[in-house]
Amino acid sequence: MAVYNYDVVVLGSGPAGEGAAMNAAKAGRKVAVVDNRPLVGGNCTHLGTIPSKALRHSVRQIMQFNTNPMFRQIGEPRWFSFPDVLKSAEKVIAKQVTSRTGYYARNRIDTYFGTASFADEQTVEVVCINGVVEKLVAKQIVIATGSRPYRPADVDFRHPRIYDSDTILSLGHTPRRLIIYGAGVIGCEYASIFSGLGVLVDLIDNRDQLLSFLDSEISDALSYHLRNNNVLIRHNEEYERIEGVENGVVLHLKSGKKIKADALLWCNGRTGNTDQLGLENIGIAVNSRGQIQVDEHYRTEVSNIYAAGDVIGWPSLASAAADQGRSAAGSIVDNGSWRFVDDVPTGIYTIPEISSIGKTERELTQAKVPYEVGKAFFKGMARAQISVEPVGMLKILFHRETLEVLGVHCFGYQASEIVHIGQAIMNQKGEANSIKYFINTTFNYPTMAEAYRVAAFDGLNRLF
Ligand SMILES: Cc1cc2nc3c(=O)[nH]c(=O)nc-3n(C[C@H](O)[C@H](O)[C@H](O)COP(=O)(O)OP(=O)(O)OC[C@H]3O[C@@H](n4cnc5c(N)ncnc54)[C@H](O)[C@@H]3O)c2cc1C
Repeated sequence: MAVYNYDVVVLGSGPAGEGAAMNAAKAGRKVAVVDNRPLVGGNCTHLGTIPSKALRHSVRQIMQFNTNPMFRQIGEPRWFSFPDVLKSAEKVIAKQVTSRTGYYARNRIDTYFGTASFADEQTVEVVCINGVVEKLVAKQIVIATGSRPYRPADVDFRHPRIYDSDTILSLGHTPRRLIIYGAGVIGCEYASIFSGLGVLVDLIDNRDQLLSFLDSEISDALSYHLRNNNVLIRHNEEYERIEGVENGVVLHLKSGKKIKADALLWCNGRTGNTDQLGLENIGIAVNSRGQIQVDEHYRTEVSNIYAAGDVIGWPSLASAAADQGRSAAGSIVDNGSWRFVDDVPTGIYTIPEISSIGKTERELTQAKVPYEVGKAFFKGMARAQISVEPVGMLKILFHRETLEVLGVHCFGYQASEIVHIGQAIMNQKGEANSIKYFINTTFNYPTMAEAYRVAAFDGLNRLF
């Protein structure tokens, strides 16, 4: 067994691992990254964020073709198959892998492809994909092994019609009817994708409101638009049994209902990838979801071992994972790049898209903060009309006395981009975070960003 020495070894090459590896390498450390698939990018690139966003983009284009009357000059509405849209996602994944492989090469970071486990606090053994076993010794180790779909023991995932958010990417046909079990972010995104392909979707929600952490007007809008696109949302339901049958799946609900579909997509929970790491050899404990606890410097209970990304739990987003990884390495190299990642915007790529930052009306009301609301509806805005994207709204919540922007909530075209303008203003100090910024600044016209101006005037007009 060959032994190699490094300053920092990073386990996992998703956004958290990449963020950690790049920051440590740029600070002059000798770095290696290990991933158990033969390509870099992590689940983010291969199974999660990238494929789902690429699928959604293709589906949106198909929906535009089918609904915009202008396109009738070149053809009647038509449906594309799931394997068709998957092909464009595969092209994006390949491009991402090429770019990311280049980053490691340029920064002289060694990559090992195999499963890593701890032999001791400074030694990782890698069983490489080619069968060779390597030993990596490092001063510091960052665990960034991500997460995978949670699979309860009583659901038979070997059945060919029962999928999770990883295996759905191998679906070789377009189901006529699909049950999505779990109405969190991933479930709602896939409900949008499949309904956009003309699939009848039953979306099973354990709660009484979709994505209840959102502003309630936006959660209501999402429900309305999903229903409008043939998604049947069933709230307050839990499975009793999931029965794979010859040509589909029967879902038996505790409420006594039975639903049959061609396939079932399980989207209920995720678990940290810690079971193969040999954490018992170094005394790091995990919680019931396989997640590792860290302090604000992303340090585990073993002082030279750090963890970042999905493997530490909240918020389990690629956006945050990259920053957490960078911060973990920032703690190691002590070059001023550490920060605790807590101002994370929400970006949800449903149809319509949703994004938000800051407090909701519910939270401000509970905290008795005297706030006011300004709104802009996309249907009245020039850029939205030009883009044939009338669905959407931007809502700014601001303090009625100090005028500080307290929250920005948006759904519709470009929502996940638009929110960052509000985020930038909210991060300013003193009077610079006032809603007045949006009326005292000239915005390009026509833009979706103009919604801030419209919403600011609307909100300020409510003050007396
Ligand atoms: C369907 C879906 C859609 C999503 N959409 C978004 C989105 O739009 N925006 C967003 O911000 N986030 C999104 N996410 C979440 C995002 O993908 C994750 O938060 C992100 O991938 C976490 O990054 P990470 O670096 O922690 O781990 P990962 O990306 O999971 O990478 C970890 C890597 O470590 C490897 N690994 C595991 N164990 C070992 C081991 N023992 N040895 C070696 N390697 C190992 C894994 O195989 C993997 O390659 C989505 C997730 C899913 C499932």
